This record gives sequence, structure tokens and C-alpha cells, in this order.
Amino acid sequence: MAITHWATTRTEEQLVSDAKKLFTATYDEEPTGVWAAPGRVNLIGDHVDYAEGICLPFALEQLTAVAASGRNDNLVNIVTIMPGQEEPRTLSISLDEVGKGNPATWAGYIVGVIWALNSANALVCKTGLDLAVVSDVPVGSGLSSSAALECSTALAAVEVKGASFKKMAMYPVMVEATMRAENDVVGASTGGLDQRTSFYGKPNQALEIDFLYDEFSFVPCNFDDHGLALLIADTNAPHRLIDGQYGSRRGLIDEVTAVLRKEDSTFRDYKVDQILEKLAKTPECSDHDLYRRRVGHIINETRRTQQAVTLLREGDFTKFGKLMTESHVSLRDDYEVVTPELDGAVNAALSAGALGARMTGGGFGGSIIALVKKEDLESTAAAIAEAAETRGFAEPTFLHAKPSEGARRLV
Ligand code: ADP
Ligand code: MG
Repeated sequence: MAITHWATTRTEEQLVSDAKKLFTATYDEEPTGVWAAPGRVNLIGDHVDYAEGICLPFALEQLTAVAASGRNDNLVNIVTIMPGQEEPRTLSISLDEVGKGNPATWAGYIVGVIWALNSANALVCKTGLDLAVVSDVPVGSGLSSSAALECSTALAAVEVKGASFKKMAMYPVMVEATMRAENDVVGASTGGLDQRTSFYGKPNQALEIDFLYDEFSFVPCNFDDHGLALLIADTNAPHRLIDGQYGSRRGLIDEVTAVLRKEDSTFRDYKVDQILEKLAKTPECSDHDLYRRRVGHIINETRRTQQAVTLLREGDFTKFGKLMTESHVSLRDDYEVVTPELDGAVNAALSAGALGARMTGGGFGGSIIALVKKEDLESTAAAIAEAAETRGFAEPTFLHAKPSEGARRLV
């Protein structure tokens, strides 16, 4: 029997203590405070955030915590211990050096946020910070450790440096700044789902985010009350959004969006065939079958997500699970972002009796989710681990995902 590895989840108190310890060991003084933001998991609605679609994520219990103090010069000093690692990484950079494409490394997610907040005139005091970061959000697993890092940094910067806007107005400004850090500074063209969820998450609630109207609402989501659990299996196959695959999917959809915008319409106004008719007139659309599958995913996934929201509200988890699995098939066959590791894990979960299972996040590696009976949580994890071992894949890591609170100050 393969061993199942569960991700470390520290209590808030442990995270605060670890963040403070790292801060004082590095900077030789106590931090002003400790702020935190969670990773997120998307229940359904993937690769539609950049296509005016709908997604249904919730904030995870697992947090990235940032201990912070202000500085009077332009330096940002960072020390971070990544989940599962012991050796800290450090970097010291002047805010004058930060801008588009620089630094396009892990530090860009942090200093990019401060730079973007300054560009938006959101901070009263535009100088640097000392930061110490500890995290339980698995990195590069499709659970958005990047947003957890950006959102905790944004909140820390705003509270340490002073906010130029009223509290409620700060949230949209922070969402924008965290997106700019990711899009402009690091150069990852992601669409804003992650940051909204990390900021706005609530216990026992999922967020229905509608990217056409740029609005969201809460949907009650408490699997536990219904004898169910959401299992995340991180395949530990690296997910690389910065390589060309994400860009090529997005590029095609952006092209179609531009055609639709010319006549002031959206993906939601048409069936696939109607869009293909419009595209037939454009020189770019030479590979008809490719466009049919890619556009088909966008249209069907948004419709599925709308249905899933209704089913979640009604508590019909059998049908909800079926939609999860349909979504996986669409991402595999039409959008082609599913790796053998992801597909193997989904099949293992379904064979073990899951109500539904799918890859989650950007794909090309990362995690799957499976909706299972509470008592089947361990055995489903064991079945997934077993299947990975049989095929010679990396050992997966598991999390029991519970809808939790968004970004906040811990102390
Ligand atoms: P995901 O957001 O799904 O975890 P991404 O590729 O978007 O995957 O973001 C992962 C990257 O974010 C890491 O490779 C690293 O550069 C950065 N990152 C995430 N968490 C941390 C952390 N705690 N400390 C430093 N960098 C981090
Ligand atoms: Mg990310």
C-alpha cells in the first residue's frame, strides 16, 4: 500500500510564531505585525477567467504569513522559507529598480505588489519594508501560492505604510496591484481569480466570480455538513504557467474575444457554431477543429459553472460531482491542459467512488480535486497514491480543503 503524505497546516499561532522568529533572527528587531492570505482552490470554471466566464473558487485554510516593518529608505528586504524547505531565501532590492519585467523571479511577486501600490498612489508612505515570509501553501501546485504571497504582502504594505484610500476602496486597488505584480513584473498572464479569492474568502463560502460583469457573490459551501469532503491531491508534477502553453491558449481566446468585441458581444451570446461562423471570415482561424474545441471549452465550462452554482445552492452534490468530472474531460480533450499525472489521479479517485473529480487551476501539472464521502477521504487518497506509484509518477501530497477566511492581519 502506498503511503499518503498530507500537507503541513500550521495553526495561526504557529505561523505567527514562526514568522516572528524568522523576522527577529534576520532583522534583529520585532516586526510591526504579521499579515496572512490563503491559497485557493477552484471547484469548477477553469481557463475562463480571461474569457469573461464564471468560476467557483474558495479560499483554503492554508496560509502565507508575512511579518513586516516599515523602512525609511527605498529598500525592500525579504527573507522567505518556502513550504517544506528549511533554508531561507533572501533578497534585498531598491524599489527604484522594480518595474515591468523586473524582478521576474520569486521576489517579483512581493516587490511587484509594493511597486504597483505605489504606482496607484495607494500608500501614504512610498518607502521600503523589511519582510519575513513563512507559508503552508504548496508552491506551483495550482493552489495559488503566488496570490497568497501577493495578497499577504499587499495587506502588510497597506497597514504598515498607510492607505491613501478609504478601507473599502482599498480592496479593489489591492486586487489590481496584486494582479499587476503577477502580470507586469513577473510576466505571468493570469486573470485575477486567485487574488480575488485570497482577499475576499469566507469560511463555509465559495465565491461565484463573474468576469463578464467583474462582480462576485458568495455561495454557501459546507461539504462537511453533508457528510462530504473535498480532497486535493497535488500531483507534485511542476506546473509552469510562464512557459508558452498558457500563453498559447490565452492568445487564441484573446483573438476570438477581439472579434466578438467588435460587435459588442461576448462568448455568452452565442453557441459554438455561431462563433465559428464569425471566425471563418478571419484569416487566423485556419485550424477549424482546434478553434471548435478551444471555444467549445470556454462556452461549455461557463454554462457548467452556472449550473454548478445552482446545484451547490440546492445541495445536489451528486449532480455537482458529475459536472466536476465533465469539466475535467473538457479541459483534457478540448482545452488540452491535462497531464497524464492529473488524469491518472482523477481516474483513481473516480474508481475509488468519488462523486466527481477534476484537475483544478491552470493545468500542465498541479492538483486535482475529488468530492468524496467524509469516511472515504483517506482511502481515496490511498487509491490516488497507489495509482501514481504504479505508473512511476511522483508521490502526491494531499490536503483536506475547507472554505476559509481570506487575507487578514494575524497580530
Ligand atoms: P501557484 O500560484 O499555483 O503556486 P505559480 O507558478 O503561480 O504557482 O507561483 C509559484 C511561484 O510563486 C513560486 O515559484 C515562487 O516564485 C513564488 N512563491 C510562492 N510562494 C512563495 C513563498 N512563500 N516565498 C517565495 N516565493 C514564493
Ligand atoms: Mg499562481
